[in-house]
Amino acid sequence: MNNADWLDRTRAALWHPCTQMKQLEQAPPLPIARGEGPWLIDYDGNRYLDAISSWWVNLFGHANPRINAALIDQLGRIEHVILAGCTHAPVVELSERLAKLTGLSHAFYGSDGASATEIALKMSFHYWRNLGQPAKTGFVSLQDGYHGETLGALSVTDVALFKDTYAPLLRPSHQVMSPDWRRAEAGESAEAYALRAAASLEDCLVECAATTAAVILEPLVQGAAGMAMYHPIYLSRVREMCDRHRVHLIADEIAVGFGRTGTLFACEQAGIRPDILCLSKGITGGYLPLSCVLTTDRVYEAFYDDTTARGFLHSHSYTGNPLACRAALAVLDIFEQDDVLAANQARAARFTELLAPVAAHPGVEHFRHRGMIWAFDVKDADPGFGLDFHRRALEKGLLLRPIGNTVYFMPPYVIEEEDMQCMAQVTHDLIANR
Ligand SMILES: *Cc1c(COP(=O)(O)O)cnc(C)c1O
Repeated sequence: MNNADWLDRTRAALWHPCTQMKQLEQAPPLPIARGEGPWLIDYDGNRYLDAISSWWVNLFGHANPRINAALIDQLGRIEHVILAGCTHAPVVELSERLAKLTGLSHAFYGSDGASATEIALKMSFHYWRNLGQPAKTGFVSLQDGYHGETLGALSVTDVALFKDTYAPLLRPSHQVMSPDWRRAEAGESAEAYALRAAASLEDCLVECAATTAAVILEPLVQGAAGMAMYHPIYLSRVREMCDRHRVHLIADEIAVGFGRTGTLFACEQAGIRPDILCLSKGITGGYLPLSCVLTTDRVYEAFYDDTTARGFLHSHSYTGNPLACRAALAVLDIFEQDDVLAANQARAARFTELLAPVAAHPGVEHFRHRGMIWAFDVKDADPGFGLDFHRRALEKGLLLRPIGNTVYFMPPYVIEEEDMQCMAQVTHDLIANR
């Protein structure tokens, strides 16, 4: 079977995510036979550098020998068991280790990012209800924020393309000014702009804290908004405000967790701890769907009671899947054993250097970088820019997926000098010959 065979069968049987299927007539999907580190290989033997970590999930490359070995070992023990009424070593060990790393003592599991958002929203609302404050039913989120696409998550998301069609199905929620530095006035520093955005959130909380359960945000980088980056002082201010107004802070680190922004978790850069933390994507190194919602003793204890209905009765069939938890434990082992955060600092410095000609190109603006995320905006891009850039990059062996006029890199943490040179060179050529 070659690429063409798989494409025919794909067209006949599949409905792809985030895709207008008719566009596949011009831009067929890439049939992937296997992976090797940061490389994807199709059925005709062509190789593509996975510069977006397979939609931000892969951390240590494809077919990673250490994660593979952990999964093979776990397969011989137990593949899955119901977590209501049962427990097992991988889920216990993962919860203990995440508690140590985040300072949040209790872990609740879901299957993907959107389910983590749903869990966080329900948990926050139910906490206040258990405390005798059932009027706290609202949520505040940021302009351009993204928290997933199930109905609850979409209600706190602010990406028009994903949201507008379904607006009649959604709960209203408040969206406040984004701290995205690209929106600053000329000459306004990232810090000054972040403080201005924080002040606008304060105005909102002064009005609506009594009916608000939580503020939900993506710390430091708003991914789906096009890798919008902001100053950490925003997070310190929000933490302080949420305490003062008695509103939870939900940190959605689904995309930015696990080293993406340079620290293991993005909140660390502001020295804050959220009340509720959502993790997914990189948690299993991109192997299996798993999400985790961590919270404090205080939240946990508000549910601990003789009355069943005061408990958090949410569930998913695959909650705490042992294979997914083993993959996550292997990921944490790699972080420790290889001192990944330090190695990434060197990688990041080198790639930033290699991207200097792209950043300096007159057709490029807002070049930005944090940890293992790089992004820039292309000036005067037409609506077809993203798809066209994606297609031209693929022809040169590079898998990129621009968001609007934003080109970004979010590579796995195993890229080496040659891979970085390839990403920088191909991108520069494409920008220069646009
Ligand atoms: C991807 C993402 C989600 C949703 O995760 P899914 O696994 O796609 O449901 C939620 N929040 C953020 C910040 C994300 O990047």
